[in-house]
Amino acid sequence: MGNVQSTENLKSYKMFVGGAWVETSETSAVVNPATGEKIAEVPIATIEELNLAVKAAKDAFDHGEWRDFQPVERGRLLYKVANLIRQNQKEIAEIEMLDTGKPFNIAMFEVEIGARYYEFYAGVADKIMGETIPIKDGILDFTKREPLGVTAHIIPWNGPFQMTSRSVAPALATGNTVVIKPAQETPLSTLKLAEILDEAGVPKGVVNVVTGSGRVVGNALATHPDIRHITFTGSVETGKTIMKAAAENITPVTLELGGKSPQVVFADADLEEAAKVVASAITLNTGQVCSAGSRLLVERSVHKEFVEKVKTHMETLKIGSSEDNADIGPLITKNQLETVEAYVQYAKDNGAKIHCGGKRPNIDSNGFYYEPTLVDGIAPDSKLAQEEIFGPVLVVLPFDTKEEALEIANGTEFGLSAGIWTSNINTAHWLADRIKSGQVYINSYSVGTGVEIPFGGSKKSGIGREKGLEALKYYTEVKNVAIKYM
Ligand code: NAD
Repeated sequence: MGNVQSTENLKSYKMFVGGAWVETSETSAVVNPATGEKIAEVPIATIEELNLAVKAAKDAFDHGEWRDFQPVERGRLLYKVANLIRQNQKEIAEIEMLDTGKPFNIAMFEVEIGARYYEFYAGVADKIMGETIPIKDGILDFTKREPLGVTAHIIPWNGPFQMTSRSVAPALATGNTVVIKPAQETPLSTLKLAEILDEAGVPKGVVNVVTGSGRVVGNALATHPDIRHITFTGSVETGKTIMKAAAENITPVTLELGGKSPQVVFADADLEEAAKVVASAITLNTGQVCSAGSRLLVERSVHKEFVEKVKTHMETLKIGSSEDNADIGPLITKNQLETVEAYVQYAKDNGAKIHCGGKRPNIDSNGFYYEPTLVDGIAPDSKLAQEEIFGPVLVVLPFDTKEEALEIANGTEFGLSAGIWTSNINTAHWLADRIKSGQVYINSYSVGTGVEIPFGGSKKSGIGREKGLEALKYYTEVKNVAIKYM
């Protein structure tokens, strides 16, 4: 393909617009977080170039051969995409590993999740149906679910391949066209995805990838009058900016934002199993996961014992370069590392106890590594227990009663995920009913690949749902047709 040129250690990428690979006059550097080294140059689109991508997507929606694809054909195409992803799994995972610093085995898993999205939505492309509505004799009233048009997909850096696939697959299954804006830090696997979609036979203009900054390119996409839906995953602040931008054109939004998800552990839980999962739910992807279980609410009678167990798991995790197949890779940027450090320093300055971590590991590398950190002895309303840190930092908050656990669990501005650990079915249901959260796990956390399960947030964690059949609603709109026949 003509989309990437290599010199010795540096690759120069093009972006994908209207079915062609295009260069721009300006480029930005992509850095490997495990080494701090520059690995690629990627285009910075101008607003004119972004407008061309939206125009290509609009033309493909309004006039192109995509309109003639029957639902079953869209499904077959998506199966082909899933197969091609699996055939290229290793290469995509290597790209993702270099770009994000993820350990290779985690990158492989995320690429498989990406393939599952195309497979899942391939199977439903020809099963999206309307209904008939009884009015009276002589009137036939029915509804159709129609695609919206050009959909925008603004992607964060923490799981680029799988998160791009999460929204692009249902958008295509339902017949929309797509403009993707990956995060400036991690655009490489999305450019590879464009290559795969092209190879699978997605018609020209149906999918476009435009690279560049959020402030300029992302903003131009969010404010473009021809965009009929925006799927945004990222921070609350950017989510608010996008929602305001979308209001100008009454563009619907799906917002997947941050979290401060509680893991609520009762004394009667399987503490061994809970400790293992609690430790992994805050260290997976170095804590850079929106649904990371970042607050540990533990019943006071087992506080000391449980904290020791979690600490043991955290301390046994291997930190290192993505190629070492470590359990924990680096944070995404130096800036993110310094942000995490500042939070932990704040905890130390405010008298918190640091059970483990709290510093950079002793590793011979310029990568942005930080040790899994367990912070205790801070109030539930303190900054550390309220704000999303987006690093491997777990805050311990003891409780005495289930009522107090509920109050602490619901006591942030977020509501993304929650874990409940207990052997008492009454306690489990009592809490699950009352926790304000998009998803609740009982005696588990983030099971399977999650592709089939609706996912999204309450409160400032977002609007709308992705994944599963639920997502299809957001990429279609209902048209009602009434026919008088006598
Ligand atoms: P971010 O908000 O800084 O950026 C996300 C994307 O938005 C990037 O592509 C960025 O270039 C773009 N962007 C930035 N400013 C923009 C603007 N003004 N207009 C349009 N686009 C703009 O987020 P991030 O730091 O890349 O990602 C981390 C955040 O994402 C965390 O808060 C995390 O919780 C959240 N997240 C949520 C989910 C979820 O499903 N709920 C999943 C992953 C990450």
